[in-house]
Amino acid sequence: MVEDNNVECVHPNEPIKVDDFVVATRDIADIQKMSVGLVKEISGNKIIVYFIGKNKVVETNRGNVSFLDIKKTGKPYKMKICNICHILKEDMKDFEINQTDAKGRKTTRPSCRECRKMIDGVAMKSSEKKRLDAMAPKGIFTCPICQKTTIVEVTANLVKDHDHLTGKGREWICDSCNTGLGRFKDDINLLKRAINYLKKYS
Ligand SMILES: [Zn+2]
Ligand SMILES: [Zn+2]
Ligand SMILES: [Zn+2]
Repeated sequence: MVEDNNVECVHPNEPIKVDDFVVATRDIADIQKMSVGLVKEISGNKIIVYFIGKNKVVETNRGNVSFLDIKKTGKPYKMKICNICHILKEDMKDFEINQTDAKGRKTTRPSCRECRKMIDGVAMKSSEKKRLDAMAPKGIFTCPICQKTTIVEVTANLVKDHDHLTGKGREWICDSCNTGLGRFKDDINLLKRAINYLKKYS
């Protein structure tokens, strides 16, 4: 972990106001050091901070947090806030690089390595891979989700979908639907919220 005073976005001597972003400069109960929060209230030496990653409001000593300049986080700066745990981490080290552009500039994933492990969950069991490989679609394929018919490996990439909690295989689906499910974390309740949101406007 980088020392606070070497980080351009963390300003330990800057005064803190309500609605400023701050980082924890030490562990505060289950709030990890470098967790990012929003200041809700200040009174005397006490400060009330909403820590985003833990979705928790915490009262602590003012000395346990430092002002965070969020505009100096993320590319091209050294530190980046994970979009899940909301802990300030080192961009090129604690986040996996997923793209390098023509000029050699690297972009990292929005979630830190630790949070990625949670998202990726359990890999598909090899017995399940074999089972699905034996049923690999040939010729034309109709995706069970989007119902689009495509030419296998020519007009669509197909993937073996699996349950990230158990490692059990599900079915072959198109790459686009697989990404779609992933965006909703394969979570039925999250998908229901998306449906309800759309219903509100139809
Ligand atoms: Zn994270
Ligand atoms: Zn599909
Ligand atoms: Zn959203």
